[in-house]
Amino acid sequence: MLYVSTRKRAFHLSFKDTVFEGLAPDGGLLVPERIPLLTKKEIEELKDLTYQELAFRIFSLYVSDLSPGELREIIYKSYQSFRTSQVVALKNWGDLYILELFHGPTWAFKDIALQFLGVLFEKLLLETERKINLLGATSGDTGSAAIYGVMDKKNIAIFILHPYQKISEIQFLMMTTVVRPRVYNLAIEGTFDDCQAIVKSIFMDLPFKKKYSLSAINSINWARIMAQMVYYLWAYFRVTEKEKKAQVRISVPTGNFGDIFAGYLAKRMLGEDRIERLILATNENDILARWVNKGDYSVKEVIPTLSPSMDIQVASNFERYLYYFYEEDPDKTRESMERFLRERKLSFSREEVQKIQKDFLSSAVTQEETLETIREFFKETNYILDPHTAVGVRAGLKFKDNFPLICLATAHPAKFPETVNKALGFNFDLPEEIKRLYALPKKFEVLPSEVERVKSFLQDKALI
Ligand SMILES: *Cc1c(COP(=O)(O)O)cnc(C)c1O
Repeated sequence: MLYVSTRKRAFHLSFKDTVFEGLAPDGGLLVPERIPLLTKKEIEELKDLTYQELAFRIFSLYVSDLSPGELREIIYKSYQSFRTSQVVALKNWGDLYILELFHGPTWAFKDIALQFLGVLFEKLLLETERKINLLGATSGDTGSAAIYGVMDKKNIAIFILHPYQKISEIQFLMMTTVVRPRVYNLAIEGTFDDCQAIVKSIFMDLPFKKKYSLSAINSINWARIMAQMVYYLWAYFRVTEKEKKAQVRISVPTGNFGDIFAGYLAKRMLGEDRIERLILATNENDILARWVNKGDYSVKEVIPTLSPSMDIQVASNFERYLYYFYEEDPDKTRESMERFLRERKLSFSREEVQKIQKDFLSSAVTQEETLETIREFFKETNYILDPHTAVGVRAGLKFKDNFPLICLATAHPAKFPETVNKALGFNFDLPEEIKRLYALPKKFEVLPSEVERVKSFLQDKALI
């Protein structure tokens, strides 16, 4: 399998290059040159596999430049750090299923992709005798998942900027209690936007970027999408077996369109509307819901909500879907993206909206509804949802119809105890592993919000 850009039919990259490049040289995103359609026989062979073996079979379709032995080793190593042998877990009440994706080291679904990416990076760096320095800004979740993905990996250092004293206590603890020689938490005296601006400005200094082999840890890396396809298929097989039905709907709390794009690929691979539709759940930052329901993809101000990891307006993986929406036409995709960059909006016709709605249903969930859903769901099932998962459950139930419904649980409630306690009306018990974080030593540096100070820190500590 080779990879192509969403914007130009000019080159083909191998899987390894795709992982390293991140972005296509023409500014587009990288996608596989075709999406394999599973045959009935293949589906039959895949449906009873363990999570890791299923991942191996699926990745084998997309990776031609690693040997089967190497690929297996990377997969098994990636998921060793999880608290369940099957990586994910399914809970159900009748034909309503919760797919728990938060059994990795930082208690949120980003671990599933970033643990894999960390192991993969290390392997590829050792092959080429390269070193990299990862640099990123976080408002919470991604930073800790990235740190846990690459800590203890050879030839990789990581520098994560966060706004000092402006992230949640648990997020702060999760990142800063990683006391490792090549892990640097930079607490910036400023806002998340300041952190992002610093990172952006450093990446724009190309000689500096090159000299220190700086690399981003963003959500557009193809390997992350690939890793996320697996749990859609795994859950589809388990649920259809149990329900004796061929079709399901899957509800996905969405921010950057990464997770749900992996769901779209899984839907295409299974074919025959086996995943009948994906339910795209947003919070009050509803650009994607407006797009599915009215064809209005226009940017508004970001509103901070109780599901902060979905507080996004411009979804960085949207372009990948657009490419398939335009029947893999890179010219149409490029034109659309350029128009979007100029006008900050795209409008889709009624016919186009109908086409979008063959893949997605969508609803925007308010913060009040989120709290209510946590409270009501607990009352009915004794199960505690995190605020992101609650957004997905709320939207999912709206569109359940007669289909078995799978709701993705993207974080453990213990990552957002303030909101969850408020919804429940009492303080729920945190897992021991999280309570323990409070007593651990911490490592972080407080720096003023100045590009030059961060740069000189990098000069000092970067691997070269
Ligand atoms: C990142 C995140 C999301 C959104 O995922 P996208 O791939 O950006 O759509 C949802 N829930 C949680 C808990 C997250 O951390």
